[in-house]
Amino acid sequence: MSPTDPLESVQFTVDEIRAAVTVARSWGTYVHTHCHTRPTMHNALDAGVRCIEHGTDMDEETADRIVAEGVFVVPTLSVSYDLLQAREAAGITPAQIAKLESMQGRRDEGMRVMVDRGVKMASGSDIVGPVQDRRGRELTHKAAVIGNERALVAATRTTAELIGRADDLGTVEVGKIADLVLTDGNPLDDIEALAAPSRIQYVLQGGRVVRDQRSATATA
Ligand SMILES: [Zn+2]
Repeated sequence: MSPTDPLESVQFTVDEIRAAVTVARSWGTYVHTHCHTRPTMHNALDAGVRCIEHGTDMDEETADRIVAEGVFVVPTLSVSYDLLQAREAAGITPAQIAKLESMQGRRDEGMRVMVDRGVKMASGSDIVGPVQDRRGRELTHKAAVIGNERALVAATRTTAELIGRADDLGTVEVGKIADLVLTDGNPLDDIEALAAPSRIQYVLQGGRVVRDQRSATATA
């Protein structure tokens, strides 16, 4: 979204990304890189990142390398949909709109390649600020391309694995933390049942009720 540089420009060297990876590891954590094009994805892989965000121009060769190296991809779709929708309010220039629009079809095809090659796909939205209640749209956008079940697994089990919490989050199992939501439909048939905040009826966080729409009371 920067105003003058082309989408195809490569903006970090492998050495720079590797320095970030080295420092992150010394803190016991890891690096995500936000990248759209193949050269930037390969630079990120050369440098040892744990996760690639967007991955718009994914092809089979890049996907196979990602799988072989145990790296995750977070397609991160919501932010560009939101920016295109709110283009005037957000003050977006024609050049920026052209960049956003050029990505739309490419990234849907990229996600199909990821599914086909078995890439570990997690979930994130790039949404910041006062619109956090739109995070569910990430499910909607993803499900439209790869189906409801894959979108749900990405947002739960695979994301728990990405963040190193597979032992206590991501699936409903004895011994895991009881973070659960009840919704008014089956998201395998109707993804909006989970994507739309108004349809979430009941929220358990760490085994405690933090939202109960059914009785309009909540305890924390
Ligand atoms: Zn991003």
